[in-house]
Amino acid sequence: MNADVMKDDAKKDNAMKNIVILATGGTIAGAGEQGKNIGYKSGSIEAQTLIDAVPELKDVANIHVEQVCNINSDDITSEIWISLLRRIKELAVDGFGESKERVDGFVIMHGTDTMEETAFFLSLTLGAVENVDDKTVATPVVLTGSMRPATAAEPDGPANLLYAVKSAVELSSRSVILSKVEGSQSDSRHACFDMSSRYVVPASEPEPSRDWLFMPVYVAFAGKLMDARTVQKVHANDLDAFAEVKLAHETLASARVTKEKDDHDSSHAHNHSVVLSKVEGSRDRLFVPSFNVSSLHSLPKVTVLYFNADADAELVRFAAERSAGLVIAGAGAGEFSQAWAVEIAKIVAETKVPVVVSTRINRGSIVPEQLLVKGTIAAYALPPAKAAVLLRFALTVTKNPTEIQNVFQIL
Ligand code: ASP
Repeated sequence: MNADVMKDDAKKDNAMKNIVILATGGTIAGAGEQGKNIGYKSGSIEAQTLIDAVPELKDVANIHVEQVCNINSDDITSEIWISLLRRIKELAVDGFGESKERVDGFVIMHGTDTMEETAFFLSLTLGAVENVDDKTVATPVVLTGSMRPATAAEPDGPANLLYAVKSAVELSSRSVILSKVEGSQSDSRHACFDMSSRYVVPASEPEPSRDWLFMPVYVAFAGKLMDARTVQKVHANDLDAFAEVKLAHETLASARVTKEKDDHDSSHAHNHSVVLSKVEGSRDRLFVPSFNVSSLHSLPKVTVLYFNADADAELVRFAAERSAGLVIAGAGAGEFSQAWAVEIAKIVAETKVPVVVSTRINRGSIVPEQLLVKGTIAAYALPPAKAAVLLRFALTVTKNPTEIQNVFQIL
């Protein structure tokens, strides 16, 4: 990782939270012809310069910044994801700077194109992190970016950055709720997916022997704070480019919040402490899926194939030959032509490359009963790009389609 540690603010206000900004590039760091919204180069400006352009940040938090990389997010790789993850874990556990100051929250500056994938990746790996201090605290991770480059006449990056830092501060002050987890570990359950041990479903997961650090992951954009699991880029041009695409299928909901109704009124559905507050006094309320990729440098390659009318079925074989897994962005409820069905059936039978079926439609979900080809895997409510992230994780522990289906089902 190119982790040039950039200068800390000279003065620290002890009453303020410490927020670490990790910069990866994107349009928020983009530069082009002065005043223009398009025709720029993403990942051109250093993070410290972007932060200096938002003086209000100093009134909101003590800021520490590190430049992880400076790229267009379309060039993000699983190697960068894993480096970013490692750095977040190090900082969360060890603190930052010479005096090892505690990190209250993270803000990640990121390109918008793949932001939901990075957020989802982090949410699947930061769910449970060992905490050396024997305390259970929340260190929120908030991703943000912009739709216009820093050199635009009216860039949206500064407002988004300020909002993300404010959100991280606000979320970190809710960590008090998380401290309830400390004395009630039997109320929390973890599904850990590991290279060495097979994935463990919650029912058989032994109680964690130590306290854990929960790191909820969000995207803050255009004044909206959105969950990493459900957020999607939904507009190619508008400043308000992201939305939480609520998932119809109950399995995802049950992973985050129990299906069981309780005394929380539905108006709390948007309260970001809701997942955590469920932990209080309620058994089986919190399920934190988490993959351990600490021994990995990259994830297996997965290709997403978009089905369109009359699409060439040979592409399926071509993609299978060079991928560890496939995700089909099917039409409607995960459908495709007979020619594709024949080719996919051959892939499943002959190559053992797992094939996950999602949909090119933004809403709804695919369940196993709907699958056209036996042996393929239903993505449930995950859109293709996120299904690919989950399949990449799943492939680090198993190639068995039934086991991979379980991973998709419990998530
Ligand atoms: N291509 C840019 C990126 O994802 C788009 C953006 O940031 O809005 O890095």
